[in-house]
Order: sequence, then C-alpha cells, then structure tokens
Amino acid sequence: MASRIYFDHSATTPLDPRVRAAMDPFLGTTFGNPSSLHREGREAREAVEQARAQVAALLSAEPAEIIFTGSGTEADNLALLGAFRAEGGSGHIVVSAIEHPAVLESCRFLQQFGVEVTLLPVNREGIVEPENLLRVLRPQTRIVSVMAANNVVGTLQPLTELARITKRQGTLFHTDAVQAAGKIPLDMKRLPVDLVSLSAHKLHGPKGVGALYVRQGVRLGPIVFGGGQERGLRSATENVAGIVGFGTAAALAQGEMAAEASRLVGLRDRLLSGLRQAAPHAYLIGHPFKRLPGHLCLGFAGQEGEAIKLLLALDQAGVAVSSGSACSAHHAGEPSYILTAMGFDPIRARGSLRVTLGRFTTEGEVDRFLEILARAVSSLRPVASYAGFALSA
Ligand code: PLP
Repeated sequence: MASRIYFDHSATTPLDPRVRAAMDPFLGTTFGNPSSLHREGREAREAVEQARAQVAALLSAEPAEIIFTGSGTEADNLALLGAFRAEGGSGHIVVSAIEHPAVLESCRFLQQFGVEVTLLPVNREGIVEPENLLRVLRPQTRIVSVMAANNVVGTLQPLTELARITKRQGTLFHTDAVQAAGKIPLDMKRLPVDLVSLSAHKLHGPKGVGALYVRQGVRLGPIVFGGGQERGLRSATENVAGIVGFGTAAALAQGEMAAEASRLVGLRDRLLSGLRQAAPHAYLIGHPFKRLPGHLCLGFAGQEGEAIKLLLALDQAGVAVSSGSACSAHHAGEPSYILTAMGFDPIRARGSLRVTLGRFTTEGEVDRFLEILARAVSSLRPVASYAGFALSA
C-alpha cells in the first residue's frame, strides 16, 4: 500500500528525527528543574540556555532577547497584552485584517478594557499596503502587529517598510512569524521590529513550545504570574525537552534554510505547472511569488462549493491537505475571513485548498498528488465555467 502524502505543513510539521534525538535525554535521565541549584538543575539550565542561543541565532538576535512560551498563540498574547500591561490604561492598536486568531482575539480582549482596535485592510493578494498603515497611525497607537507570512494564503508582508513607518513615530511593532520563521531569513539586526512570535511545531520541532523575541529595552508586562521564570515574563517551570527540541529545530532550519527554500520552490513550481493538466480550472490565491517557499493556496473555479468534499476525497485517497488554517476546522463550511478580507466573494471565500510542502516532501509525492487530485476533481460536480481564471491569477 502506498504511504500517505502529508501536504499540510502549515498546520504542523512532523518532528525531525534529529530533533527527537536531541530531546530524548530530557524525557528520561536528564529531568532536573532548571531553577534548582544542584547538578540535575544545572544540567537542565544549561540545556535551556543553549536552546535560547540557538533560537536567538535564527533571528540574529541576542539570547537575552528570547522568552520561551507555551506556544505561538501565547507568544502573540504576551506581545499584545504585555505591551498594554507595561504601560496600563487604554490606547490604540493596529493589526492586519488577516492575522491569526491568536492576535485577533487578543485585540477583542483588549477592546473590553477600552483599547481601540483598527484592522488594516489587505489587497487582493493579501498584502498590507504601507500607505494604509500611514493613514491609520495615531499619536496614541501603542503597538502595530502585522504577520510576516499568512498561514492560509502564504503571502509575505513588506515587513521592513511597515516596521519603519511604525518606528518613525516611536510605536512598538510586533510580527507573528510563526509561519515564516525557519523558512525565510529574519534578521533582527536589520529589521526594525520590536517583538516576534515563533512556534516550534511549524519548523519540525515539538508542539507546545513557542518563543517571543523581545528587543532589548522594550517593556512588557507578564500575562502569566508565578515564580518569575523567563525574566518574570513567563512564570512556570520550563518545558525543558520541548525547549531543547525547539533549539535544535531552529539550528537545523537555520543551517538548511537556503538550500531547503530553493528545493521547496522547485517542488512548488512543479506542482503548479502539473496543475495545468491535472486541474486546468485551478487558480492560485495570494501573491504569485511573494509567498512562503512551499506554500500554495488554490481555488477550483466552479467547484468552490465542493472544497470540503474535495479535501475529504483527497484524504480518502491518502493525501492530507487543508481547507484553510487548522483552526478553521471549527468553522468548516464558513467563508474564510482571510479570503473575504482579500475581496473574495462568499462562495469563493469558502472554497480554497491549502497545499503546503515540507522538509520530507519528495518529487514523487508531488507527482502522485497531481494524479490523485486529477481523479478527485473529476469525481466532483462538473465545472460550470472557468472562463476568466488563470493559474497565475
Ligand atoms: N500564528 C500563526 C500565523 C499560526 O499559523 C499559528 C498556528 O497555526 C499560530 C500563530 C499559533 O501557534 P501555536 O499552534 O503554537 O499556538
């Protein structure tokens, strides 16, 4: 029997065996609490600090600027709520309309305390246009948050420009780089960004561990209270094995990033050109090249209403893809707020398929996927019309 094809790396990635090997001792014999003064504790502390240096290196940052958290979600929460907790009071926050719920729901929470929220629009390709940011900034804007890469459409944002505009008036700039980290270079020596969220499980590390980069001098208040670990910003005994896995995953991603990005772009382009035959009515959603290397978001003209059926047919035939972000499993069948923000009508906003490749994806899998996809789309309701669509749209 042919093995399954996993093309849902934006939802999560399989643990790299090298990461697992690095974590192994910390799930067994090396079990100390990093806060303990004895040898067991010191060994655990050393491992956490080595991982901190590895995660910092991925961002060309200083180890002291990395705060480990329990997830990417928690890193986003800490960045946004923490910025308001540091100063207290109300104010104004600007975020893009296509942020992950970890950011949008933090804003909704802040609204209850009198914080005003402005959602930045995006264009048809899912990009925030810098002049729109200029228009909405106010003297009392406390923080701007725009993700580095979108989790559904894969589009990359003009981070440098957006951060420069924000910093010019002394406002904090946060980016959710959960999807981007380890896939595209993020250099804190060059990017004028104050806060960056990361998550280990998106880069072949373990689930349940994230980090927030906090630029030296930036003041945040905690959202978790207790023993004062992680410079008082994230109390709790550290998830040592998870953190060690995160560090190793970050080091591997950093070392392999350039070669891996061009390999993934090659596979992505092979898939795109194969689509012309396998599903000629398919169209690409998002920017044609300002996108994550292994990320495709596809619509199937005339069959948008059948996207869930297509996903399930592919699953039955041995292929795992997504209809949006994993979080949208709770909202199956509803139009995606991300595609809606990009100007898609409700029918098309309901009908995308996210195909995301990863470190262990092979050419053979891409070819087999195309064959399976061709069969799956032809088993659905016939395509009514697909005039006016092009693969490169
Ligand atoms: N931000 C983005 C852009 C994501 O894609 C995700 C996960 O899908 C998160 C945040 C949340 O990360 P975690 O799963 O570690 O909580």
